[in-house]
Amino acid sequence: MQDAKDERLIPYQLPFPKDAQQEIVVPDAIPTDERIWVPQAENVSFRPLCLNRSQGYWMNLLRVRKSGVLSRHRHSQPVHGWVLKGRWYYLEHDWVAEPGGYVYEPPGETHTLVVPDDVEEMITYFQVNGVMCYVDPYGNVQGYEDVFTKIDMCRKHYEDVGLGADFVDQFIR
Ligand code: FE
Repeated sequence: MQDAKDERLIPYQLPFPKDAQQEIVVPDAIPTDERIWVPQAENVSFRPLCLNRSQGYWMNLLRVRKSGVLSRHRHSQPVHGWVLKGRWYYLEHDWVAEPGGYVYEPPGETHTLVVPDDVEEMITYFQVNGVMCYVDPYGNVQGYEDVFTKIDMCRKHYEDVGLGADFVDQFIR
């Protein structure tokens, strides 16, 4: 039984801090509109969810289709992943990531993400911190990505597909 005095059900009564940001709610995290996926390499694209420029991290869904490869890269900060669909592995490790699985990538990891030929596509939710450096097999840096390159890629893509460059703004914090 529920009476009007049940304090557990009274919403918080004070204003939120005036400098606090709006929450982000994305009902279609796995989007039905293909334009929302931002291409980043052959058969590799990402769907931004939170691009945190003030703390230098991003949360996104990574989608890699049949035989796609996410190029060899080094992390200087941790990454958290939760596999939603498909199957993938790193050339550098002997385990296989499958739906429902959680992956922690510690600082210092260098790896190459591969989707096996028999998998149509994989989707994994990743939280990536700081910078990921693309490297050759011997660790020589060839490029990098951070929250700012991600934002730039989104702006350009969303402009190109007609959603408008500012479509990405809703995900930026
Ligand atoms: Fe990685």
